[in-house]
Amino acid sequence: MMKYAKVIVDISLAKLDRTFTYFIPEDMREYVRPGVRVTVSFGKRMLSGYVLELVETPDFDIDKIKPIESVDRGYAEVESVMVRLARWMKSEYGCTLNQALKTVVPVPRNVRKGAVRVKQVSLTESCQHDPRPLKLNDAQKAAVDGILSSYPKPALIFGVTGSGKTEIYMSLISEMIKRGRQTILLIPEIALTYQNLSRFTRRFGDRVGVVNSRLSAGEKSECFQKARRGELDVMIGPRSALFTPFPRLGLIIIDEEHESAYNSDTTPKYHAVDTALKLSELTGASLVLGSATPSLESYTRALAGDYGLYRLPSRAVSGSVLPKVTVVDLRKELREGNRSIFSRQLLALMAQRLQRHEQIMLFLNRRGFTGFISCRSCGQAIKCPHCDVSMTAHRNGRLVCHYCGHSAPMPDRCPSCGSPYLAGFGVGTQKVESEVKKLFPEASVLRMDMDTTSHKDGHSKILASFGAGEADILIGTQMIVKGHDFPKVTLVGVLAADLSLYAQDFRAAERTFQLLTQAAGRAGRGSVPGDVVIQTYAPDNYAVATAAKQDYYGFYRREMGFRSLMNYPPAGAMLYVLVSSAEEEAAWKEAKAIAVELLSEADEAMSVIGPSDAGISKIKDQYRKQIYVKHPDKGRLLALRDMLIASHGENVQTQLL
Ligand code: ADP
Ligand code: ZN
Ligand code: ZN
Repeated sequence: MMKYAKVIVDISLAKLDRTFTYFIPEDMREYVRPGVRVTVSFGKRMLSGYVLELVETPDFDIDKIKPIESVDRGYAEVESVMVRLARWMKSEYGCTLNQALKTVVPVPRNVRKGAVRVKQVSLTESCQHDPRPLKLNDAQKAAVDGILSSYPKPALIFGVTGSGKTEIYMSLISEMIKRGRQTILLIPEIALTYQNLSRFTRRFGDRVGVVNSRLSAGEKSECFQKARRGELDVMIGPRSALFTPFPRLGLIIIDEEHESAYNSDTTPKYHAVDTALKLSELTGASLVLGSATPSLESYTRALAGDYGLYRLPSRAVSGSVLPKVTVVDLRKELREGNRSIFSRQLLALMAQRLQRHEQIMLFLNRRGFTGFISCRSCGQAIKCPHCDVSMTAHRNGRLVCHYCGHSAPMPDRCPSCGSPYLAGFGVGTQKVESEVKKLFPEASVLRMDMDTTSHKDGHSKILASFGAGEADILIGTQMIVKGHDFPKVTLVGVLAADLSLYAQDFRAAERTFQLLTQAAGRAGRGSVPGDVVIQTYAPDNYAVATAAKQDYYGFYRREMGFRSLMNYPPAGAMLYVLVSSAEEEAAWKEAKAIAVELLSEADEAMSVIGPSDAGISKIKDQYRKQIYVKHPDKGRLLALRDMLIASHGENVQTQLL
């Protein structure tokens, strides 16, 4: 038995990322293991911390070593796997060990017994359904057999929407249950709907746990404890469900693996796919990714043979075919005198579908570009005084900043030139709604965007209502296209396909391709064939053109050509460095110093771009300057990042793109 423990003290000071040695009193030796939470005296305070390792002899004066005060035994011990995962996250994402541990090890709460209900999907309604598995078709069978016979080799299931990926997941989960192993299934938060979850609870009953971001910390912790105690076989949730402490993890499935929601936007800025790959290595589990539009990273790895690749090119339900897609050039519409937000083709199809009592989805790409107010005289958009972004007009007449929440009344005159001619630019979902109501007063319309879904359960209520056929038309932003299955929808209209192409991001074309392909996948999921109309100002853009043809390979070849030419990921590695300061001059100075530092380390293969203003050059009164560093070798960039963190500390934020 080891007598000493190295403990990392759990305080929020990021700088204090080192271990301290404590003596393990005899009666605690049975419980103190790496990953366990303990209370120790630290200076004059009592603090909690995590045990990182056990040692025979201390590296410190034995007389000064204090004993561990108590071990948190009520809190389930996490295996040393979680500590090793946290160490990897620290080196991969440049956070402190403390931050990584807090992410992977659920923080225990004092949960009053009986106070917590673990939310379960209600089963009452679904009792008449048949829980027996469907007979898999050949493509599904090939995937299941291939994945199990090469287990635990990672796999990518590249299957069009409706091709039966979910059936494959359920079949794999059944096999894991037979083997006495557990499964983590990640799905995007927005797709955690009754419809999706009930398929799993019907098949696996109450051995399915579900977590989502609306659970309180106590509820989530209780759900994780159930998993730890072996009371669950499957955990379904968004990216944080990856850290479910299952005793014998056998499988991690990431559905819609290309979704950007799998990238954490808070420190540590981890990528769930890469982190899952590491976790599967540490546990001996297999990783299975599924998508109709795989990320370039995953598809490239699959082509290289690192992942098994399984294709499902057609829909599983016989008679259900992929929809017919039409691309409409909005410039031509305008030339021919149509100033409406609806092209003539879309309008005609809408009228026809309403007459036939079939459902319609209208999709507006991205919220940030719409609804802002600009001056007709000088062209200036009205911006937030604290952020470098345009304010968005809301129906109540106020302008709101979506970055800091600042809100102001609509001004009478342009703040730049005093002109009284201010006008809304672009169309928001509210505008689309009022246009639809004008054109089709008899149609019932539902709208789904950040405003209508901000209250609890807002989005699932809207989706449930639309799914039950209570409305003819659903209007929304990207949230309506993700993974929802409405068999009565036979028409999908994409009102302006190009907007996301202008985002300052080398992945903009990929995101546009994914969104359009997914939007198209919403039409005709039942037996009635579907139509998709993509309205665009850029019909020749390859992302739009290949999405319209549902041509993933065509898109992949073009896009990889571009990434290779520019050394963008996945062709090379790229590091983003952001410097921010309340003083613009100070931000510039530090950014320039960093660029010089980086250049002094540069070799032939490295390029340093910047500093320049960040895409949004000011947020919450902090000026932001950015630098990009490209290098074919990721390891080299990680070393440079650690150097910057050591020399500039908290003034810089870095992210591997
Ligand atoms: P995906 O997850 O790829 O979108 P799903 O697994 O949801 O696809 O399947 C789409 C539809 O096809 C569902 O209604 C499902 O019940 C049905 N389906 C899937 N596999 C089969 C099969 N082998 N035989 C008959 N129907 C199937
Ligand atoms: Zn003006
Ligand atoms: Zn603001």
